[in-house]
Amino acid sequence: MKLNNRGLLVVISGPSGVGKGTVRKALFEMKKHNLIYSVSMTTREKRSNEIDGVDYYFVSKEEFEKRIKQNKFLEYEKFFDNYYGTPLDKVEEQLKNGHEVVLEIEVQGALKVRRKIKDAVYIFLVPPSKESLYNRLEERGTEDKNKILKRMEKANSEFKLAHKYDYIVVNDDVHNAADRILAIIRAEHARTERSIYRYQEMIRSK
Ligand code: 5GP
Repeated sequence: MKLNNRGLLVVISGPSGVGKGTVRKALFEMKKHNLIYSVSMTTREKRSNEIDGVDYYFVSKEEFEKRIKQNKFLEYEKFFDNYYGTPLDKVEEQLKNGHEVVLEIEVQGALKVRRKIKDAVYIFLVPPSKESLYNRLEERGTEDKNKILKRMEKANSEFKLAHKYDYIVVNDDVHNAADRILAIIRAEHARTERSIYRYQEMIRSK
C-alpha cells in the first residue's frame, strides 16, 4: 500500500468530437472542487475564441520539436498534422504538492500516460450514438466534410480502446457528464489506498 499525499491525476479522453473540451470546461465552471487543469501545448493555429495560455500554449513546430528533444512532455502526439503535448514539469509539480490535476487529451496520448502512471484515473468519454458524434462534428463547423469523415474513421478505431480505461462516461448532456466525472473523482479520492495515510497520521498523533 502506498502511503503518500501525492495528488490524483485524472485523464479525460475519448474520440475526437465527443465533447471532451466542453465537458472539461463545464467541470471547471462547477467550482465545487480544487481541480487544476493542465494546459496543453500545441502547434495548431489558435481559433478566434481561444486564449494563449488558457486553452493551449500555442507554439511553432520548431519550438515544439525542441521541447520533445529536451524530454519536456509527459506525452505528446501528432494529431491530424499538428502536435499536442502535456508539459511535464507543471503536472509533476502540482501532483507533488498534493493537487488533483486534470488532463484532457486524445486516446493515444492517454494510453501513453497509462503506461507511465499506473495510479491515475482514466476516464473514456463516449457519445450516446455514432450519429450524435457525426452531428456534433458537423455542428462545430471547424472541419469540412472530408475532415469529418476522417475523424469518424479515427473515432471508430478509438472506440475499440475503451476497455483500457477505468471508467466510461456517456456525454448525453454536458452537465450530466461533468457531474459523473466529479462523482468518479470524489470516489477515487476516498479510495482506501489514497486516503488511509491521513488516518494513520491521526491515529499516531496523541
Ligand atoms: P483540438 O484541436 O480540437 O483542440 O484538439 C484535438 C485533439 O487533441 C482533442 O482530442 C484533444 O483532446 C487533444 N489534445 C489536446 N491536448 C492534448 C495533449 O496535450 N496531448 C494529446 N495527446 N492530445 C491532446
